[in-house]
Amino acid sequence: MPDIRDYTDIVGQGVIEELFLLAERLDGKEIQNINSTAVGGGVAEILSRMIPLLKQLGVNARWDVIKGDERFFSTTKKMHNALHGVDSPISADEFEHFVQVNRDNAADMTFAKDVTFIHDPQPIALVERKTELGSKWLWRCHIDFTEPRMQVMDFLNPYIAQYDASVFSAPAFSRHLPIPQVLISPSIDPLSEKNKDIPQSVVDATLAQYGLDRERPIVTQISRFDYLKDPVGVIHAYRKVKKYIDCQLVLAGGGATDDPEGMQVLAEVREAAADDPDIHVLFLPPSSDLEINALVRGSSVVLQKSLKEGFGLTVSEALWKGRPVIASAVGGIPLQIAHKYSGILTHSIDGTAYYLKQLLQEPEYAEKLGKNGREHVRTNFLITRHIRDYLLLFLSVFYPGDIVRFDGARNDATP
Ligand code: UDP
Repeated sequence: MPDIRDYTDIVGQGVIEELFLLAERLDGKEIQNINSTAVGGGVAEILSRMIPLLKQLGVNARWDVIKGDERFFSTTKKMHNALHGVDSPISADEFEHFVQVNRDNAADMTFAKDVTFIHDPQPIALVERKTELGSKWLWRCHIDFTEPRMQVMDFLNPYIAQYDASVFSAPAFSRHLPIPQVLISPSIDPLSEKNKDIPQSVVDATLAQYGLDRERPIVTQISRFDYLKDPVGVIHAYRKVKKYIDCQLVLAGGGATDDPEGMQVLAEVREAAADDPDIHVLFLPPSSDLEINALVRGSSVVLQKSLKEGFGLTVSEALWKGRPVIASAVGGIPLQIAHKYSGILTHSIDGTAYYLKQLLQEPEYAEKLGKNGREHVRTNFLITRHIRDYLLLFLSVFYPGDIVRFDGARNDATP
């Protein structure tokens, strides 16, 4: 793990000093994060980087993961899909089991005395313990909430209402809620194995390891094998371009312990890839960060053809590497890409194929998009900005209605 001061070269000294000042204000407060998987997906990705850095800043932060059986995770996946607007009804028994698993976890867990920060719907019902514990509870929703199925919203609303505040990734996701809403975008860690600078020799060795030919363009999508990431749509777009340009396609991804659909999607992707030797379907173990880093750096174009998306960390990850990205205009992706300036936004397989062909034919334009994208990520989506937002959020729950200051003076309210 890097030292928090190592980020100075990327974001400047002032940013790091400010983080220390803010963290000092939280002295003695215990902040607990809870989600449903330790590996796989964006939430685990962020927490695994965020918690050690918060600790270095002197914050008493910790991270716990709830346990659940297959039935629980099949229900939470349905909830996830339904919140993204997909029709996936949930039975009364499934809801009941969901609540029971939350209660079992609540009975086994030790909760922080000050702040419990719940990520996504899976552990949402732990909040039943809030009144008895007397601590502050925050709910962080990483999902695109623009068109949720009402069955799931009706179920979740009474739980959401018990929290002190909610956090969403993008303005479009905000909803009418009886509690305050805070907008905080996710982030990437520029010094993680997945994002740090690596020598060209590592990139070359990784491409060779996966049988990729450096002499021909490589087009890549990194994603869990999930219908909402539309990997089969990516194959269709690639096929349209392949007629004109001899390129290779990489679909690389792993699973997440809280996503039971992965294997089925992977099988469908393999079937769609059929016997094209230029389609590389890579099922990667969780420890593949360096390989993912190298694959993205070795790609001519990176795709993120999601049908729905929370934020889409993979977009910022690719832009940070200066790669041109073509991504769907869904969820938090338009926050990361200004169309034709810091990448390309598309709405269909045909659109993706059209721009893919263009970027492969105009590498200078493609490089320019990647370069602009990197600067956009530097300003908006690095972990230091995210830590600052979270520190301010935690402070705001102890000083409600007050202005949180960090210039040495403190307003009157005492925690
Ligand atoms: N990721 C990974 N291995 C994989 C697939 C994805 O490490 O095989 C990472 C990816 O690099 C990104 C995160 O998982 O950091 C996915 O976050 P995103 O917001 O793009 O999507 P989510 O999976 O949370 O829907």
